[in-house]
Amino acid sequence: TTPLPDLVIVGAGLFGLTIAERCAEELGLRVLILERRHHLGGNAYSERDPETNVEVHKYGAHLFHTSNERVWEYANRFTSFTDYRHKVFGKYQGQVYSLPLNLALINQFFGKSHTPDEARALIAEQASEFDTASASNLEEKAISLIGRPLYEAFIKGYTGKQWQTDPTELSADIITRLPVRYTFQNGWFSDTYEGLPTEGYTAWLSKMADHPNIEVRLETDFFAVADDYKGKVPIVYTGPVDEYFGNSEGRLSWRTVDLEESVVDTDDFQGTGVVNYNDGDVPYTRIIEFKHFHPEREKTHLPGKSVIVHEYSRFAEEGDEPYYPVNTADDRAKLLKYRDLAAAEPMVLFGGRLGTYKYLDMHMAIGSALSMYDNKLKPHFAEGAELKSGGIDA
Ligand code: FAD
Ligand code: UDP
Repeated sequence: TTPLPDLVIVGAGLFGLTIAERCAEELGLRVLILERRHHLGGNAYSERDPETNVEVHKYGAHLFHTSNERVWEYANRFTSFTDYRHKVFGKYQGQVYSLPLNLALINQFFGKSHTPDEARALIAEQASEFDTASASNLEEKAISLIGRPLYEAFIKGYTGKQWQTDPTELSADIITRLPVRYTFQNGWFSDTYEGLPTEGYTAWLSKMADHPNIEVRLETDFFAVADDYKGKVPIVYTGPVDEYFGNSEGRLSWRTVDLEESVVDTDDFQGTGVVNYNDGDVPYTRIIEFKHFHPEREKTHLPGKSVIVHEYSRFAEEGDEPYYPVNTADDRAKLLKYRDLAAAEPMVLFGGRLGTYKYLDMHMAIGSALSMYDNKLKPHFAEGAELKSGGIDA
């Protein structure tokens, strides 16, 4: 029989890879990662399209951005980043606008030029219909922030498609802060650091696992081999928390996205990486054109062709990829029960997007894994502290 590893990690996404790298590199532990897909990297995985040589993000467009110095320094140990700055445009009734809501969009939408002060006054007047503090649903909150005309053009249709739910039925806190920029600045993110991994996501993520103490076992479902490890060796589990407990408290609800990929016969389909479709009656939410994420690779792409993806959002059924937690009151009640179960599960730590039922950006997944390493794994393995699950955050 093969000796047990020091630590088993379920899931080779950014959370699991960060834990594995730290434990192998800094503590010298022998780490086994079990991954049920045929590749590592989790949802950040990408591959070159064989026909066009364009890098395609297989689980939806992934843009790296962070203001966390430690996460930025850590990520840069495994890859450099390009100087790509993400921009998003929105199509509405045959016109294309520059998002997020900014002075260019306001001027174009209302058909006249406004100074920043004039635009502020205009939006304040249009937003006076509802009070932000007492807004009881997403629609009221959005109108209280940006006014009804901009809400109806850019939020109502898009949000309805994204959530398959009328915005008056959605919680106000989905749109906690809907920024309007009274400048022409149209960068999508406001973080200190931003860029795409120079050699692609898969090169980055593979490098994290490239260590003699780390073994990645692909196409291996943890539940098929759980008896070999449960209770025998510490486990960091980054799969869905409800699945771990056999859905005993009911399934947590997720949204999934159908990604319809196609190769089109043109050098340039839309002139930019992401165009949102804000009209409610267009069935998809947005179109991604991947080559625009790497303009520096232009010469390596097959001329005359481009890879695009139409995104369609819907509720996830059993067997679909869980992408975004829906997080209804019912889900939150179930999550509290799973949290108690997780806290009582010996030698298992729950982490990552699926393990905590939280939407985590990549930098948050890395940051949260570094915290778990500092606060739980390192004290246990280096100082003999008891391994306390502490459950999952609700
Ligand atoms: P995951 O990447 O989901 O990895 C979990 C892994 O566990 C998976 O590989 C899964 O196969 C495996 N697994 C689950 N159960 C088992 C089991 N029983 N046995 C074995 N293996 C198992 N973040 C950004 O910063 N910028 C973006 O632009 C961005 N865009 C996104 C777009 C979409 C559509 C989605 C869904 C996410 C996006 N993210 C983005 C978030 C990013 O994908 C997450 O931060 C990241 O995936 C979190 O890593 P993770 O390790 O927690 O989870
Ligand atoms: N949203 C919108 N119109 C847009 C873009 C976003 O109404 O053009 C709203 C929508 O409710 C969405 C939320 O803002 O769910 C977050 O949008 P983002 O593009 O950040 O979502 P993600 O990329 O995570 O799907």
